[in-house]
Amino acid sequence: MHELAIAQSIVSTVESEVRRQNLPPVIQIAVRIGALSDIVPDALIFNFEAITRDTPFEQTELLVEHVELKARCKVCNHAFEVENLFFSCPDCDSGQVELTQGEELDISYIEVADNN
Ligand SMILES: [Zn+2]
Repeated sequence: MHELAIAQSIVSTVESEVRRQNLPPVIQIAVRIGALSDIVPDALIFNFEAITRDTPFEQTELLVEHVELKARCKVCNHAFEVENLFFSCPDCDSGQVELTQGEELDISYIEVADNN
């Protein structure tokens, strides 16, 4: 269960950004979570809601975008989706593949209340 730690780091990152830029209340936080990061989106949202209760982020919605695991073959340049952590090119069977996405753990954007 490292979702709690991730939720805490998301909140503290956004908190310091809000303070630094003096932003209005945050309505939505969108995060991109790669398949390889091994995070359960529902657990992340659950923990986020639990730690933001009775805080300025109580009304903030956390959106989790799941990023599929994708790789590219270094031999034939074929790009493919990695299934069941099977890191081998489906075209030429080469094991020389590089991961192109799936390790993400980023905040993609935050949406704040309209000041007007
Ligand atoms: Zn290949």
